Amino acid sequence: MKPNPRLLGLAFASADILLELDPEGQIVFALGSAPARDCPSPEAWRGRHLNDFLGKASRSAFASATKGLADGARTGLVDILLVCDETQARRARIRAFRLPELAPALSCGIIFEGAAFSLELPPAPRLLDAEAFLDRSRHNLEQAVESSTIAVAFVDVPGLAVADGEDGHRAGVRIQAALQAASVDGSSAARLAPERFALLRHAEDGRDVALEVFEAAAAEGLDLSPLVAQALIPRGADVVSTLKALRFTIEGCLQNTALEHPERLFSQTLKTTLQHADQFRVAVRAHQFALHYQPIVDLGSGAVHHFEALARFGPDSPAKAICMAEELGLIEEFDLAVLEKALHKARQPGNGLIKLAVNVSAASLSTDHYVEALLRLTGGDPLERRRLMIEVTETAAMQDLDAADRRLRVLRAAGVKVCIDDFGSGSASYDYLRGLSVDSVKIDGSFIRDLQPDTRAHTLVRHLVDLCGSLKLTTIAEMIETEPVADTLRALGVDYGQGWLFGRAEAEPQAATFAPVSAAPRRTGAQTSWR
Ligand code: C2E
Ligand code: MG
Ligand code: MG
Repeated sequence: MKPNPRLLGLAFASADILLELDPEGQIVFALGSAPARDCPSPEAWRGRHLNDFLGKASRSAFASATKGLADGARTGLVDILLVCDETQARRARIRAFRLPELAPALSCGIIFEGAAFSLELPPAPRLLDAEAFLDRSRHNLEQAVESSTIAVAFVDVPGLAVADGEDGHRAGVRIQAALQAASVDGSSAARLAPERFALLRHAEDGRDVALEVFEAAAAEGLDLSPLVAQALIPRGADVVSTLKALRFTIEGCLQNTALEHPERLFSQTLKTTLQHADQFRVAVRAHQFALHYQPIVDLGSGAVHHFEALARFGPDSPAKAICMAEELGLIEEFDLAVLEKALHKARQPGNGLIKLAVNVSAASLSTDHYVEALLRLTGGDPLERRRLMIEVTETAAMQDLDAADRRLRVLRAAGVKVCIDDFGSGSASYDYLRGLSVDSVKIDGSFIRDLQPDTRAHTLVRHLVDLCGSLKLTTIAEMIETEPVADTLRALGVDYGQGWLFGRAEAEPQAATFAPVSAAPRRTGAQTSWR
């Protein structure tokens, strides 16, 4: 029995649709093996040209695959975009076979790939930039429910930036829409570089982001192979540490767009950050740090006026640890631990007359907590408050000056002195001076250390002393290392001085009197007021 060649063709193709084309490409026969809801029926194909159903790039791909196809030969599978109508298309593969019995006609089998999609471009989504992505991530991480694991996915789409013309643009829009839709809240995807994206997603959402991006590009006839790498945010990782690691990684991506494994950098940084934060937290809770006390001297009399309590975690400066604590939101707990330790020192027998200054990060004044705790800790002996000064450091920016000022006023009303530390070192110094109610200004050591007459620093300090005089604020100069600098400061009218010339920070407050110049020395430790 002679086999029906058309059925033979269908069998070879195991296709969803079997077509027979005349030498011009007109469809003379069409048979659907499985009716497809979103594709034209076989009748609709007949009499039309195959090209009417193919995307632009698919037409040339099919033409070149079938060019010169010998009798009895068949093509490989050719990826095509099948245009169902003006609004819909689907990915498909086509294979052509030149059956000798039907020559010169061409038999073709079409196999559908994936579901039909809309030809209309989704509205071009506005992906976030790095800064907005971090902001959005903060919001999402704060909202993240315990039950869902969040991941940061980095998606590279090599070739996207060089895909030019309309197709490249359309593919870009589709890819961005796909990434946006795959992000946690539908709006947490960012474009970090022309071919690199980042998104925050639910790790267990079951989506194959790589496939979605691939299909988005394929819908526009582009064959791009996305690389998706993601890092899980471990349960229990706090938002601040996560954001810090994310910022670090994103900065790496921005500086070096070829950064090979952003997800590994992120995981590693997050791990180290969490470890450091943990170590710091443990050290603070267990009070595993010391306070050293550096004298601050009345420049007029040479008598020690008070001591600044400086934290020590080891032999090195605490500056780095404090910076980290500020970034990770751990500083308030630390500042309170310092306060407790300082009060303990002030209460020890023999220290009844010393006055202490403790540093307080501006961040610790962003809530009522620190001020309330200070008042509570000194509640048993309100006179104690009169022996306390807080030095507000400017390392972290103060968000709400008015609220901070209200808190400082409460402290001052309770008898605590307030000083702006490191004046002149940061951009906000004058804002602080204008907006905060304080008693003293501590001039930053960078102006003082090498202070010489007839220099700009000298003029600055002179003006600052005048200004503070008019505002009825006392002045303190820090980092006085030499006698000539101390003399210059005295001549300028600076009230108090601190620095190695008078003494380093020591484990015990060392009350001595230093080179009285213009007044008789007071008895050591006999200061009872701040002026
Ligand atoms: P700061 O409050 O301005 O403290 C003065 C720093 O200058 C101290 O560094 C001190 O050791 C150093 N210093 C004092 N005299 C001289 C001098 O004559 N020459 C030089 N070159 N340096 C001098 P330290 O102890 O390393 O502290 C660095 C910063 O860390 C402090 O600057 C303060 O901002 C912060 N800090 C220290 N302890 C605490 C604390 O308990 N809480 C908070 N929030 N910050 C603290
Ligand atoms: Mg200080
Ligand atoms: Mg300072």
